[in-house]
Amino acid sequence: MNQRVNEPLSAIAPAALPASTVDSLPPAPTIAAHPLQKTSVYVTQPVLPPLAEFLPYLEQIWDSKMLTNGGPFHQQLEEALCEYLGVPYISLFSNGTLALISALQALRVTGEVITTPYSFVATAHSLVWNGIKPVFVDIDPVTMAMDPARIEAAITPNTVAILPVHCYGYPCDVDGIQRIADLYGLKVIYDAAHAFAVRHRGNSLLNHGEMSVLSFHATKVFNTFEGGAIVCQDAKTKKRIDYLKNFGIADETTVVAPGINGKMSEINAAFGLLQLKGVDDAIAQRGIRDARYRQGLAGVPGIAVMTSIAGMEPNYSYFPIFVGPDYGRTRDELYFALRARDIYARRYFYPLISQFPMYRGVASAESDNLPVATRAASQVICLPLYPTLPLEQLDEIVNLIRDLPNP
Ligand SMILES: *Cc1c(COP(=O)(O)O)cnc(C)c1O
Repeated sequence: MNQRVNEPLSAIAPAALPASTVDSLPPAPTIAAHPLQKTSVYVTQPVLPPLAEFLPYLEQIWDSKMLTNGGPFHQQLEEALCEYLGVPYISLFSNGTLALISALQALRVTGEVITTPYSFVATAHSLVWNGIKPVFVDIDPVTMAMDPARIEAAITPNTVAILPVHCYGYPCDVDGIQRIADLYGLKVIYDAAHAFAVRHRGNSLLNHGEMSVLSFHATKVFNTFEGGAIVCQDAKTKKRIDYLKNFGIADETTVVAPGINGKMSEINAAFGLLQLKGVDDAIAQRGIRDARYRQGLAGVPGIAVMTSIAGMEPNYSYFPIFVGPDYGRTRDELYFALRARDIYARRYFYPLISQFPMYRGVASAESDNLPVATRAASQVICLPLYPTLPLEQLDEIVNLIRDLPNP
């Protein structure tokens, strides 16, 4: 089991593949069962359609021999996602981190960018990969996202953009952020890795700011194994993003930027098309479990849950709880009590990004600057939540949380 901190995977390492020889083809490699696989509950489990439904897609790829470089499935998935999400333009990527890095490149962001410490490390890493200095500001205790008042106070002559995160899929204060961006001439790029399909005031949440970046990692609400995308608002910007994810190549003899290889392959795109058919059902199943947690945990002293933001249609991507002093046990006592029952909840987001060695040198990383985020990081546990989580197991988790303080 992978024990690295601040890391979205609860995956099990596959066994090494047996060596193949020309004469005796080995049987298909098997993946060793993890000893705890049968009984353990992880924070998430990826949604997979029946394998047989994927085979016709693979046959088409084998027939066409188009494996990547914007093939037919890539094209179809971009169109299908624009339609499903209600966004004008989307560019697929091989993962969300390369999409974040490329979004900043596309807008030529340099200097300083104001961002949140309460996120997955890729948010801030994407800045460092562009030679940009992250400036951390504190979060709002209701949305768990950047507090616009704190953004304004952190602006310097070097500030070029704002990189907020729709944390756990709950909308940021998009109006407050846009007002400041307009006032000071800043770009806004949303890390929307948690916000697939979230709607807000009847519109896609992904249509705010210059760009929104999605992740289709195995642990996210919609997955293509690995994958990601940038949503943007005009055709010219999409074109520039498409160059950047293909080495900066504009045509056979023209390279317009030092782009990267961030292209999504045909296998991932085809899988995305299949996944899209089941995503509404997956979100509905998540919603049932979200409601059951809320009901089960209501009135437990010291356990706080997030409340819906006005006008939001959620995707139920995570179920964070915050363990306060009234609970009678510490967050880590509860976390390890769950682990002792093979329930692998995760402390997202602890430690704060600003606590990691490559970030704690900047002045804005000081805990005194980030009191709300610091408290949240010390109290949070994300409980297991996925469409196939058995309700009995969910009830067991609720009972354990209720009973732990009064044995
Ligand atoms: C998952 C995630 C990412 C990174 O996406 P990948 O597809 O894994 O590269 C970035 N930001 C946040 C907030 C995430 O949760």
